Amino acid sequence: MKMLINGEWRDSVSGKVFTVQNPATGDVIEEAPLGGEEDVRSAVEAAGEAFADWSAKSQRDRSKVLFFAAVEVRRRNTDLAALLTAEQGKPIREAVDEINGFANILEYYHALSAGGRGEYQDLKGYGRTLVRRRPLGICGAIIPWNMPAIIMGWKIGPALVAGNTVVLKPARTAPLTCTRLAEILGGAGLPPGVLNVVTGPGETVGREIARNPSIRKVSFTGEVETGKQVARDAAPALKRVTLELGGSDPMIVAGDADIGKAVEGVIRGRYYNCGQVCTAVKRLYVDESIADEFVRRLTARVETIAVGNGMDRGVEMGPLNNRAGLHRVAGLVEAVRERGEGAIVAGGRAPGGEEYDRGLFFLPTLITGVPHDSPLFTEEVFGPVLPVATVSGFDEALALANNSRYGLGASVWTRNADLIARATEELEAGIVWVNQHLKIPPEVPFGGTKESGIGRENGSRALEEYTEDQAVLVRL
Ligand code: NAD
Repeated sequence: MKMLINGEWRDSVSGKVFTVQNPATGDVIEEAPLGGEEDVRSAVEAAGEAFADWSAKSQRDRSKVLFFAAVEVRRRNTDLAALLTAEQGKPIREAVDEINGFANILEYYHALSAGGRGEYQDLKGYGRTLVRRRPLGICGAIIPWNMPAIIMGWKIGPALVAGNTVVLKPARTAPLTCTRLAEILGGAGLPPGVLNVVTGPGETVGREIARNPSIRKVSFTGEVETGKQVARDAAPALKRVTLELGGSDPMIVAGDADIGKAVEGVIRGRYYNCGQVCTAVKRLYVDESIADEFVRRLTARVETIAVGNGMDRGVEMGPLNNRAGLHRVAGLVEAVRERGEGAIVAGGRAPGGEEYDRGLFFLPTLITGVPHDSPLFTEEVFGPVLPVATVSGFDEALALANNSRYGLGASVWTRNADLIARATEELEAGIVWVNQHLKIPPEVPFGGTKESGIGRENGSRALEEYTEDQAVLVRL
């Protein structure tokens, strides 16, 4: 795999490469160029040259490219999903969903392009006033490794339809699917230079995207601390930033909830993608009236989750994506064990022992009785470990749910309309689910409050985030 700059496959200027490994086996899948600042600068140059022609096209013509690409992505779904599973680790079923999700997003922005319009007013004394929406120019997109295809879609879909050109940096441990998707867009008619992919480290490639003054907007998805660094780096050029950062989503199960459905909600909400989802259920608050039964049924269900190589039949949960993430998660569980602060009621270790040589696996884990100031509650735990707390009622559940620096998603499980109304009113979160958790269709705006980020992606408003107003006052 090489970098895709100006429609050409290129090595990095340094000539260095890095390896992409399969987290389930440790096998090297492919080498990718170790890009640096100079590679970003040549991608920026290509994106700058491509901007005039691309932005001059009609929105309809631009969106057709996305539509044709979506058709091709769906046609090649099986191969793309296998590549995603190989580099990221998720079960193949989830990878197929993610690749289809990428196509859904492109189709959504294709459909939406017909509705992109500005405003017109007849202002007595000033003449006719137009407000035009203009593309921003070159946009930077920095992607994490957990859902690389979906997050790429959220960024490039609106950016490209609106007439911008893009320099995109995938994560080091999952750059292959993003590069392949960019190639498909090229095959579907995207002119050279409109979408460029530079692979390499965050410290060089990512920072240059954040700093480079010719890039007018950067959309970053990743950890809170990295996001703050991106904001600092982007500030001198006053570029726009969208920051989609970490989350520690609470799930509140009220006393009247359907226990069976809520248990399945936890299974999907916490253990999907091995718990490596920004909006995964990361804190569980269960009403004391049903807590014993709930934990018993949940524990039994967690123990049925089949862990293994995502390509194997029947596997429900793959490995973690990278060794650093695995050690962080295993370390948090170890600390619980050492301090004797809670009860590990399921999992809590690697399958078959403590050796991780044959893949970065960790069993789905459930922990009860940890104090509310434990890092399991206060930090974002990016892996298959869930702390469960019993609460005395809905007031306490809401207070604990909001007692976090994060505010990405939250869910409430109840059939009581008053509780639903209170939860929607009081939960400090960018997205609130009722009797479900996790799913995000292309139509809804997505992003967080508090330290979970700035700005929104997805939905029709994303087109506004990739355009700016120009007021034109005409007197005839
Ligand atoms: P990360 O912050 O380590 O890296 C994200 C990307 O930024 C990678 O491409 C990385 O190479 C790059 N990067 C690293 N340092 C950089 C720097 N100084 N300047 C510019 N770029 C830099 O995050 P990760 O470990 O890849 O992803 C997991 C995190 O992403 C979690 O916190 C998760 O919650 C978050 N996330 C958020 C959303 C959302 O939409 N809110 C979605 C998915 C993941």
